[in-house]
Amino acid sequence: MILAVNHVFRRCTMTLRAMVQLFRFIPFVFFCALFLQGCGKEPAVKNPPKLHTYTGQVMGTWYSVKYLPPTVSDMSPEDIDSQIHSRLSRVDQLMSTYKPESEVSRFNATLPGEWFEVSVETLEVISLAQSISEKTAGAFDISVARLVNLWGFGPDPRTAQVPDEDHLFAVLIEVGYEKLELHDSELKLRKKTPLHIDLSAIAKGYGVDQVADFLDEISVPTYMVEVGGEIRTRGLKPNGKPWRIAIESPNTNQRDVHSIIDITDRAVATSGDYRNYFEKDGQRFSHTIDPKTGYPITHNLASVTVIGETAAEVDALATAFSVLGLDQAMRYAKAYNIAAYFIVKEPEGFIGKASDAFTEMTRKKL
Ligand code: FAD
Repeated sequence: MILAVNHVFRRCTMTLRAMVQLFRFIPFVFFCALFLQGCGKEPAVKNPPKLHTYTGQVMGTWYSVKYLPPTVSDMSPEDIDSQIHSRLSRVDQLMSTYKPESEVSRFNATLPGEWFEVSVETLEVISLAQSISEKTAGAFDISVARLVNLWGFGPDPRTAQVPDEDHLFAVLIEVGYEKLELHDSELKLRKKTPLHIDLSAIAKGYGVDQVADFLDEISVPTYMVEVGGEIRTRGLKPNGKPWRIAIESPNTNQRDVHSIIDITDRAVATSGDYRNYFEKDGQRFSHTIDPKTGYPITHNLASVTVIGETAAEVDALATAFSVLGLDQAMRYAKAYNIAAYFIVKEPEGFIGKASDAFTEMTRKKL
């Protein structure tokens, strides 16, 4: 999980609800200190204009948008906030597997061969997902929906049980992104064989892009959009400094910062096995599923952070790299010049490994 350093600071200034949030994040208090430390130094801009902050809940998680209202616009911050909320809610309404009336849930209910009309947004997300599936040899695969549910990480009640082999196999044979057919010009989809899709590893990022593109359209000079840890930034903060993002240490017992990176005009997402998992007989089963085996990932790659142009792409790539494992993911990152940072669990502790593009982009040897 990544968190914007400022986000932690915001928690220190919010309402009682924020206080409750704050207590959930006790270890983060020192972030404030870290942030305040940062503040000690002479800011590049004296008396910087104040950022406007808008927060809320969507897609089963929280969002936070910090931005400097545009100087020339007939839209008040309240107008902009309501646009932000409606764009995120639209993604939730269209793509949620937790909402039976969503486009994705209604598509999941169709029979093989039946064409199903979808919105431009849903087709855009599925097209991107399919292209990442092709590039990652199926490590990323939105047709894992029933596997995710079977392992208790979907809309159905949590089971924290390892499914029996026969049941798992019966569900596994349904998986395969190639069994999904898209008709781009007519905005419709169909299944070649029974399958169900889950956009949880890409749609939050897409929601971030929808908000960021809107803020770009109305010439907001600087912003940071965050939905459940997926982030996109524009410009420098009003004090002239870059937006700072904390990469969390994949520690299950407490929340720690592993490193801090400056992100300007980029998107960043992290995927890992240390927040959404259950343990059975000493073995951890996380919500990242290998579509080839039907099992949660078992290797020692604990967290992957990817930086790129759009939040939807880095959201999906972070999950794909988590499935591929360090060696294959690093080879992929080098081949496509992708900025990725991997944290592996070794006997001596968590070790970070950066792709060349990551080191270059953050100009930091982490
Ligand atoms: P990521 O690593 O970004 O995604 C992991 C998720 O992707 C898994 O949980 C699984 O669903 C899926 N996945 C696993 N393996 C693969 C694979 N190999 N290829 C592709 N996908 C894979 N949660 C709720 O509790 N309540 C809600 O109402 C709710 N509504 C949502 C609505 C939408 C539109 C979306 C996108 C998600 C919603 N969620 C909801 C899910 C919640 O936000 C998830 O925790 C989140 O999507 C997982 O994101 P992450 O960053 O933790 O993990």
